[in-house]
Amino acid sequence: MDAQLLEIRDEVFRRNPGETEFHQAVNEVFESLAPLSARHPEYANAAILQRICEPERQIIFRVPWVDDAGKVQINRGFRVEFNSALGPYKGGLRFHPSVYLGIVKFLGFEQIFKNALTGMPIGGGKGGADFDPRGKSDAEVMRFCQSFMTELYRHIGEYTDVPAGDIGVGGREIGYLFGQYKRITNRYESGVLTGKGIGWGGSLVRPEATGYGAVLFAQEMLKTRGQTFDGQRVSVSGSGNVAINAIAKAQSLGAKVVTASDSGGYIVDEAGIDVELLRQIKEVERGRISDYAVRRGSSVSYVPDGSVWDVDATVALPCATQNELNDKHAARLLDSGLIAVAEGANMPCTAEATALFQEAGTLFGPGKAANAGGVATSALEMQQNASRDAWTFEHTEERLTDIMVNIHESCAATAEEYGMPGNYVAGANIDGFRRVADAMLAQGLI
Ligand code: NDP
Repeated sequence: MDAQLLEIRDEVFRRNPGETEFHQAVNEVFESLAPLSARHPEYANAAILQRICEPERQIIFRVPWVDDAGKVQINRGFRVEFNSALGPYKGGLRFHPSVYLGIVKFLGFEQIFKNALTGMPIGGGKGGADFDPRGKSDAEVMRFCQSFMTELYRHIGEYTDVPAGDIGVGGREIGYLFGQYKRITNRYESGVLTGKGIGWGGSLVRPEATGYGAVLFAQEMLKTRGQTFDGQRVSVSGSGNVAINAIAKAQSLGAKVVTASDSGGYIVDEAGIDVELLRQIKEVERGRISDYAVRRGSSVSYVPDGSVWDVDATVALPCATQNELNDKHAARLLDSGLIAVAEGANMPCTAEATALFQEAGTLFGPGKAANAGGVATSALEMQQNASRDAWTFEHTEERLTDIMVNIHESCAATAEEYGMPGNYVAGANIDGFRRVADAMLAQGLI
């Protein structure tokens, strides 16, 4: 990183103390930008970097609700509207006890560049709350969502800011949030939220899109080395929306996926994960990954508390949460013959792990490129809402596939253009950044 970039980065760190995940995400982008800054002095003259690191608007609010025992609970809600150069703010809501401003800002910052890479007209934002939906009744989740939306509704809209799901926010939560928005505003504004149910404004393929997209991106990377998913031994972390659909897609392409996990532990299924059983346990019954081991029988081992990254694999798809895969895990995976990593989650690999993968020449697809299929399909949902249309599964999946192939191509081409062939991290950061920077330049100092 050159001296000018370092100075700007350090100022961002100073102005946002204690937000370690945000610092990590900013640092990673800045590390890629030196060659771009050298070619485009106009970005520095217009203070594009400083502006891109400062959210356009940050909203923090109280979310009071009453639990089933009649006790008042208070959570903290967030929406960070980061950048609207390319379109309305767009990004998910995360409900997890670990959520604080630094997490929301890291996710929002990543989202700016990810959304730009999709080529769709969407800006970057993110939100959530330190609410834990696990173990709560449906009625408690509904009351929480209604209270959350009672504040959030005034900040969002089809042309302003369009939230979606993330960790802890799936179809159930989006339903309750949409219902409350409609009730308060007296508007059936379908395009205000994405991830809606099929039959009331949702898009086919949206539930599958992030996991499918990550596998499609990995497939494109493998192709550059004359390889495919067929016969690969794949490790997946997590057992939520992204993980389950990544497992399904990888297996449909001939891979054997042997792991899945949750915050309690992981399973190894040497026969290959039974996706339908996993869906039943996690999506229908809202159970734990340990239940899968009990129900599936003898081919499966369950390891409480351990890391899924201790298991041998040729392809790794981290699909749980940030910083779940560290340098020790990376070294182990490389020893076991790893050839590719595609990040289904946001920033699941630590900076040190990413560096090890890159030094080893492993194919490495960063989250802002590899998991962009989710938000891209959200933008397709917005298109369908705007035209009051509903596309078939096949048509929507075709659009998703084209988008992932294009993202792969533009990351690869940008890396090549800047003298770093095969470096998808640099390609994604530079290409995403310049798309946003050029729009910001055109729109003046705002
Ligand atoms: P879900 O809530 O559906 O699933 C999350 C999974 O990760 C669960 O298995 C959960 O286990 C596990 N997990 C969450 N936090 C932790 C933790 N601190 N330690 C260990 N395991 C954890 O979320 P999604 O599948 O939607 O999201 C997963 C990742 O993908 C996130 O990084 C998200 O930002 C990213 N992403 C999601 C998109 C989407 O469309 N949904 C789009 C792009 C990125 P447990 O149940 O025990 O908490």
